[in-house]
Amino acid sequence: MNMINRLDNFELDISCKKCGNVTKKPIGWVKANSHLICGCGTVIAFDSGELAARIIEINDYLCNLEQMQK
Ligand SMILES: [Zn+2]
Repeated sequence: MNMINRLDNFELDISCKKCGNVTKKPIGWVKANSHLICGCGTVIAFDSGELAARIIEINDYLCNLEQMQK
């Protein structure tokens, strides 16, 4: 099973710090884009360490799931 593809399909909650609106985007989309423009017009940049940390967290979680299924 290809973990990379599964990770790309996993949806991240991207919250706007200004209006609090949460947009769900797959990790694959996040990796292909540098920012998301919220409905309120705020640009949410993905270069923050926070988002990278979330991706690593989800990766670890999926790895654990994978091991439990064996
Ligand atoms: Zn917003």
